[in-house]
Amino acid sequence: MLTAPGRIETRNLPDPAPQEGELLVAIRAALTCGTDLKAFRRGHPKIPFPSPFGHEFAGVVTAVGAGVRSFRPGDAVMAVHSAPCGSCFYCQAGQENLCETIMETKVLGAYADRILLPAHIVARNVYAKPDHLSFEEAAFLEPLSCVVYGSHVQPMRPGETLLIIGAGPIGLLHLLLARQRGVGRIIVTGRRQERLELARRLGADAVVNVEREDALPQIAALTGGRGADQVIECTGLPEVWEATPRLVRKGGRVLLFGGCAAGTTVTFDTGRLHYDEITLQGVFHFTPAAVAEARDLLAGGAVQVAPLISARLPMAQLAEAFALLQRGEGTKYALIPEAVDG
Ligand SMILES: [Zn+2]
Ligand SMILES: [Zn+2]
Repeated sequence: MLTAPGRIETRNLPDPAPQEGELLVAIRAALTCGTDLKAFRRGHPKIPFPSPFGHEFAGVVTAVGAGVRSFRPGDAVMAVHSAPCGSCFYCQAGQENLCETIMETKVLGAYADRILLPAHIVARNVYAKPDHLSFEEAAFLEPLSCVVYGSHVQPMRPGETLLIIGAGPIGLLHLLLARQRGVGRIIVTGRRQERLELARRLGADAVVNVEREDALPQIAALTGGRGADQVIECTGLPEVWEATPRLVRKGGRVLLFGGCAAGTTVTFDTGRLHYDEITLQGVFHFTPAAVAEARDLLAGGAVQVAPLISARLPMAQLAEAFALLQRGEGTKYALIPEAVDG
């Protein structure tokens, strides 16, 4: 349980009995994520104290509720922590990621021995984990679903030059997806040399450390002075959102992927948007179709996420994992519960 900024408490709670359509899953691996780090550091509007947290996980089914036919105890599963309702205005309109209840009916609490998955998630967004995929790799289903959904909203195109701003786990997942999609040239900008070197190893054609050099002339030099064909913003900083039109070519596309703090505003040069026909596109969360594709990409090996895992730590060291991330060490940590009996 996250009980206050920077404070994690372990509580012993009885295992809930799964009701109709529900699954009880023993966590085998849970991953750290930028959202959880933010919640740990300063609290999060959607995670009131005290609250279980963590939302990227994979595990083994330990009990099933009445009516569950697709899974049985002992099954290894990979899942995401939300699913659309299927009946609201947005679900009917085919914009399931914007479902009116998708956020309030999500489930948190992957940093635990067990997680109870509600029926609406079991029905749409839980998959059998193939044996050849580790639990840590399978736990990437949620962040990869977000990234895949971004590519459904604004496709990556083969042969183009793509600029990814931010070399955190999400920027690196965009990089892996871009390679799978056959993007021509991939440039990654970031602040931490360790992560930029990882981006290089994962197939970035060029990296720019914006702590050491000015991004604008570097990107211009790498793109014949035009700017990138597509820019994906993965920092969630208003000043970076604002800079994106200067980094994309005429007629180019910007995907604003990183969420900024609530209430922030940005200003854009109307001339660049109008005369230079630049597209700025926001994107949020994911649809079940994106989850299904992310599952296929992981299971088929088309996206290899293992290099993004900095280390495996016992679940009891969750606070230590966040401290490491806060110090800029590592990219993503896998937390492993000690008492695995599932
Ligand atoms: Zn996440
Ligand atoms: Zn809905």
